[in-house]
Amino acid sequence: MSGRKLFVGGNWKMNLTVAEAHALTRAVASGLAGRGQVEVAVFPSFVHLAEVGSVLHKVPGNIVKLGAQDFYTQANGAFTGEVSLAQLKDLGVQVVLAGHSERRHVLGESDGLVNAKVRAALAAGLEVILCVGEKLEQREAGMTDQINVAQTVYGLAGVGRTQMAKITIAYEPVWAIGTGKNATPQDAQQAHVAIRRALAALYDETVAAATRIQYGGSMKGSNARELIAQKDVDGGLIGGPRSRPRSSWPL
Ligand code: PEP
Repeated sequence: MSGRKLFVGGNWKMNLTVAEAHALTRAVASGLAGRGQVEVAVFPSFVHLAEVGSVLHKVPGNIVKLGAQDFYTQANGAFTGEVSLAQLKDLGVQVVLAGHSERRHVLGESDGLVNAKVRAALAAGLEVILCVGEKLEQREAGMTDQINVAQTVYGLAGVGRTQMAKITIAYEPVWAIGTGKNATPQDAQQAHVAIRRALAALYDETVAAATRIQYGGSMKGSNARELIAQKDVDGGLIGGPRSRPRSSWPL
């Protein structure tokens, strides 16, 4: 046993109406009753955070954390369309994503911006899921570990040893996100080991052993158990079909 508590996140992306978000939040919370061995967070769109937060607030035991998919690094000001960490905290957000592949590869976020976001969120006292993952051509060129380690090292630049208690890494191969193709449990395990070794080199064995590394990329009911059974896979980050999110959970 690793001693690391499993952590599962639901990334709802740019999906759902208010009523659907409300219903899904209730379904997630009631599906989790009595499953205290797993930590869970949901990441609705900004426009649904207040509604989802108000539903979660009424669920006894704070069993589902409220998460945000994105944020801006500045505290406030003239940044039309952006959302600050203080605004998210005001709504009860406890955890944020940084470096999700859609933000890196669809919206063009650089390693520098991802790192600035990680540091800003930690400074604001929030937990962070730092997402890393290789593209298909990088995998085919044998660069999987190199890419994941580089994104981990860049993403964590300036993050102190004690701050690592608030960091989760999500290994999300880009070719697996939203495609229905998942990494094999063995490939996921191998990638997680490489990331954990990078954490040991950056910090030490204690930090590496304590940091949770989720797998993300077409995780679903039929493959979740086998993936999570791997020694270094500490949960999952789960999105859903591009058009609609999943309404049921694999755990
Ligand atoms: C994600 O968006 O982080 C993700 C893993 O999506 P999916 O489960 O759809 O592959």
